Amino acid sequence: QDVRPEDLELLEYLGEGAAGTVNKVFHRPSGLIMAKKSIPTDADPNVQRQILRELAFMKKCQSPYVVSFYGAFLNDGEATMSLCMEYCEGGSLLDVYKRASERGGIIGEAVLERIAESVCKGLVYLHSQKLIHRGKPLTWYFSFLGLDIKPSNILITRNGQIKLCDFGVSGELINSVAATFTGTKYYMAPERIQGKRYAVQSDIWSLGLTLIEVSQNEPAFPPPDQPDLSVFELLTLIVQHPVPEMKGTHLSDACKSFVSVCLTKDPAHRPTPQRMLEHPFIKMWENCFVDIAQFAKDVWGWP
Ligand code: ATP
Ligand code: MG
Repeated sequence: QDVRPEDLELLEYLGEGAAGTVNKVFHRPSGLIMAKKSIPTDADPNVQRQILRELAFMKKCQSPYVVSFYGAFLNDGEATMSLCMEYCEGGSLLDVYKRASERGGIIGEAVLERIAESVCKGLVYLHSQKLIHRGKPLTWYFSFLGLDIKPSNILITRNGQIKLCDFGVSGELINSVAATFTGTKYYMAPERIQGKRYAVQSDIWSLGLTLIEVSQNEPAFPPPDQPDLSVFELLTLIVQHPVPEMKGTHLSDACKSFVSVCLTKDPAHRPTPQRMLEHPFIKMWENCFVDIAQFAKDVWGWP
């Protein structure tokens, strides 16, 4: 059943990104709390219908490592569209590390491992989806659009699951959003900056940068000692300069190695998510219970 605007009750504002605003809403028919993301859309009704059709396929993506998608609708009289998805109470990794750093804390290796593992498993799941859309498998779409792996797009649920969101499935949606904003491209792998074809490995680069950012409480790019680079200089830096490193005496060599493997510049030598799951860092923590629900409780001061 479709989510309709009249079935939603606005609860609170959650945040906003370059493309739109996210609100917490209550869906009366199902009793579910949802996150509703409203974004600008193309004015052409044909394009709008196309976007909604493409989005309908996202409902089939169901994995503990991917935020569930409930439905989308157009907002009458506004050039916007709303996407309803699973609400993740723990917020994004960006929210989490900012909060942790306000409280003088740093995120330790066990949590970093669960993030790395969940993101890789989410990527394996999404790329394994043989869902057919207009005669083409969805993976074909992924291969053009890519996912957008960065701290704000990795969410934590109340019960401690770590999930990917905002993965691009609808080509038309991406086009219409892209037409209206210029987002940051710092997480893009060198081959994507250079306009080469997207591959699964590109997301692994972004995962490497994400892990550094979450562990040091600030982005790896732009470098902290060169904050005033132009976008062009920054993109040149990503392509030409040595890659950033994971630093800290509290981190194991296996952890640092995982990140440096993620940041292999040549995509042909960078492992796939499946292969990254075999890395010693993942193996090392394999039989350990890491209580992410407790971690979220501590970060947010929940009772
Ligand atoms: P950008 O637009 O550059 O991708 P972003 O990912 O932060 O940035 P949004 O995707 O619009 O932008 O999300 C804004 C914020 O809303 C997130 O940082 C997060 O705090 C919150 N948020 C988004 N989706 C959810 C969700 N499903 N559950 C809970 N909070 C969410
Ligand atoms: Mg996002």
